[in-house]
Amino acid sequence: DLSGKTAVITGSNSGIGLGIAWELARAGADIVLNSFTDDEADHALAQEIAQTCNVTARYIKADMSKGADCRRLIAEAGVCDILVNNAGIQHVAPIPEFPADKWDAIIAINLSSAFHTTAEALPMMRKAGWGRVINIASAHGLTASPYKSAYIAAKHGIVGLSKTTALETAKDPITCNAICPGYVLTPIVEKQIPDTMKEYDMSREEVIEQVMLTRQPSREFATVEQMGGTATFLCSDAAAQITGTTISVDGGWTAL
Ligand code: NAD
Repeated sequence: DLSGKTAVITGSNSGIGLGIAWELARAGADIVLNSFTDDEADHALAQEIAQTCNVTARYIKADMSKGADCRRLIAEAGVCDILVNNAGIQHVAPIPEFPADKWDAIIAINLSSAFHTTAEALPMMRKAGWGRVINIASAHGLTASPYKSAYIAAKHGIVGLSKTTALETAKDPITCNAICPGYVLTPIVEKQIPDTMKEYDMSREEVIEQVMLTRQPSREFATVEQMGGTATFLCSDAAAQITGTTISVDGGWTAL
């Protein structure tokens, strides 16, 4: 039961972040949603979660590519018992052609943001006497693929940051772990389908089955609900001694 706890989830107006927000709210946690936009739809999501799950939920705009915004998000939340570092973007290109500004943006959003939010949240967790840091890495935090240099560097980096955070909080009632999803059919994956269709002259179904899910032995996408369930488990008492490690939710990808 997570009632009385507040969860801040970065990049949570869609996909995995939103799925995790829903599951934590169903478990009773109050929710802070985030992205870099400030649309009515963003605030409506928070309202829907609050009404459905009978918790407090609000949306705070903050751009996770900017360190000061990351820190302000946590400060403005005021409480942060559960921090889920989830915001992420992707860009696919061979290294010589990889745009330097895309490299910088991916490192900032997918990796450095977690450093800034964690720095701001740990003192709050220590004061509260309980805390959970959950970093959303990837199967690409443990393995590589061509053309995703920045993403893979950032995801390996966040696995390392998770271990260090765990060691620095080992004596506190705080844990830090990384969830490593395989393919989940969210907007970040949807956006890769048209280009891959062109590149290989394939249909959508062929791209999904013959390119994407070849890495995933289950041949099924993982779901945002499964990511939410895994995050909720990491917040439970059963997981109090699980720290500094990775949990793969990837249909067997990393077993190959
Ligand atoms: P998504 O595109 O639906 O979600 C990304 C979220 O990050 C969105 O809410 C977006 O608004 C937010 N975001 C992007 N830039 C931001 C910024 N500058 N500031 C604040 N928020 C920002 O995709 P997703 O699949 O839900 O991705 C969530 C996380 O899961 C990412 O870190 C991604 O790398 C990781 N992941 C996804 C998969 C997958 O197959 N979908 C697999 C492994 C890991």
